[in-house]
Order: sequence, then structure tokens, then C-alpha cells
Amino acid sequence: MFCANDLHCHSTASDGTLSPHALVLRAADAGVRVLALTDHDTTAGIEEASLAARQCGLKLIPGVEISVTWNRQTVHIVGLNVDPDNRTLQQGLSKLREFRDWRAREMAERLEKAGISGAYEGALAYSNGVLVSRTHFARFLVKQGVVSDERKVFKRYLVSGKPGHVPGNWASLEQVLGWIHAAGGEAVVAHPARYRMTGSKLRRLLKDFIRQRGEAIEVVSGSHGRDDYFRMAGLARDLGLKASVGSDFHSPENPWIELGRLPMLPDGCRPVWVDWDIPQDSLDHSRQEMPGAPKAMPVGRTGS
Ligand code: AMP
Ligand code: MN
Ligand code: MN
Ligand code: MN
Repeated sequence: MFCANDLHCHSTASDGTLSPHALVLRAADAGVRVLALTDHDTTAGIEEASLAARQCGLKLIPGVEISVTWNRQTVHIVGLNVDPDNRTLQQGLSKLREFRDWRAREMAERLEKAGISGAYEGALAYSNGVLVSRTHFARFLVKQGVVSDERKVFKRYLVSGKPGHVPGNWASLEQVLGWIHAAGGEAVVAHPARYRMTGSKLRRLLKDFIRQRGEAIEVVSGSHGRDDYFRMAGLARDLGLKASVGSDFHSPENPWIELGRLPMLPDGCRPVWVDWDIPQDSLDHSRQEMPGAPKAMPVGRTGS
């Protein structure tokens, strides 16, 4: 039994490899009924995704995954049901993309000093030319044969303390919740179990989030293990937060995280969609295995 709602995924508008159209078709094929497109710091893919969703009878929730700096750490906040035409939201997101562009040039300079040239142009060629992510650098470095896979690139070059790393200088939690709420959306802490934080620090983050009227946390996530589901469900219950479900799908080449293959929320969770205008009684689907898909989800942290 899988949850028919998948409220976190990426397209070529940010660091995914499928176009918004192809992503929606893949989700519908996988049995997803309600899909939120949540690209990093942009809503540019929403229009194409909405059109595709209308064609295949899937409900598309306009979303975004926003980069936040909290306590000198990067944290991701998903906005669901945001109005993509909201000016406050768009002004905020465009500032973050400006920082991304500056950071990409800075990363390339640092990589140059580590003996890797042409990384800015290389990463840009993997992106849509508007938004550059570390993922695009990772794809370029793998293609160059510098490192054998994306995970290793992050570990050796792109995380704190490594040659290509540039510290994040994103928006504050307060700003980002302001933008999401101004745009009529609900705020969700993305993959809370994935941050390198002690339990008490995570609680502090969630308390700050609640103080800013944040609504939910991802309990079931493609980057959570089974234990995390129950731990995060407990936290959500204790703190009175709603619970979300999202694969964080980026690409069919990553066999571990697939669209629409996540379990239902643990008992006792209040789903983030509880007040949404969607059928509340048909949220799970049993479906056949997809050919070539893995049987089980891996457990492990990737850092943000
Ligand atoms: P950015 O927002 O540009 O700093 O890039 C963050 C993105 O990089 C995340 O959304 C993931 O898609 C990806 N990412 C982060 N850490 C890893 C990792 N260890 N391995 C593979 N991808 C990662
Ligand atoms: Mn990403
Ligand atoms: Mn994220
Ligand atoms: Mn994501």
C-alpha cells in the first residue's frame, strides 16, 4: 500500500532531470493522485506541470522548496498551495536565485584552485540556465570523470570543509514563512530527520518554526528511513504539527527514490491535506511493482 499523495519533487526547473510535463506523467503512471511540484527556490515549472496534470486527471499542488539559513545551517522549507503569482514570494525567491548565481561563480573559482577548470560553464550546461544548484556541479564533475558518482562528488568537493564548498547565505526562517503565508500557502519543514542536528537542536528549530506559524513537517520522506517515520510522527504529535509525505524525487537515474512509492502516514498523524479540497477517502493505492524498481528504501542521511 502506497500513499497516493506525493508532496515533494523536483523538475528541470531546478535540479531534477525530468521536465515538469514528463514528471507529472511519470507520477500519474505510478498511481499518484495528488502531486506537489516543489522545485528549489523557483515556481517556474508550475504552469507546465498544471497543464500536464489537467490532461491526465492528476491534482497538481503548486509548491516550492525554499533554502533557509537557520543557526548557520541550511534547512529546507516546503511551501504548499502557494500562489505562484504572489509578488512577495517571487521577490524573495529571486533574491535567493541571485545568491545562487554568485555562489556558482564562487564555487567554480574555488574548484579552479583545486585543479578543476570550466566548472561554472559546465554546471550551467546541466541547468536550465536560470537556476544553478550544487547538483548541476555534481553532474558536471561526474561527466568529467573527476569522481565516479554524485554522492562522492558531494562528499569530496561540495560539502562543508571541501574545496568547492561555499557556505549558504539563504533567507531567514521568519522571511521564508512570511513569503509562504503571503502567498496563501502552508509551510512544511522538509526531511527533518536528515539534518545534522541533535534531537534537542531539531526541537529548537521546530519551536522557532511554530513561533512563525509553521504548519507541518515531513514525516514520511524519500530521505527518511523507517525509524525516522515514527520518530518524526512522534515529534509532530508532541508539537501539534501536521504531517506531510513526499518522495523528494529528482531523477529516474536514482533508483532509491521513486514517485508514489511511499507508505501511508503512521497512525495518529494529522495529514497536512486534512482541510484540502481533495477526496480524503481514496488516498492509498495498491499497485504493481514498477519494472526495475528497488524493493526497499535505503536508510541513510545525505546532509542538506
Ligand atoms: P543546493 O541547494 O544547490 O545547495 O543543492 C542541494 C541539493 O543537492 C539537494 O537538494 C540535493 O538534491 C543535492 N544533494 C545534497 N547533498 C547531496 C548528497 N550528499 N548526494 C547527492 N545529492 C545531494
Ligand atoms: Mn535537490
Ligand atoms: Mn531538500
Ligand atoms: Mn527536495
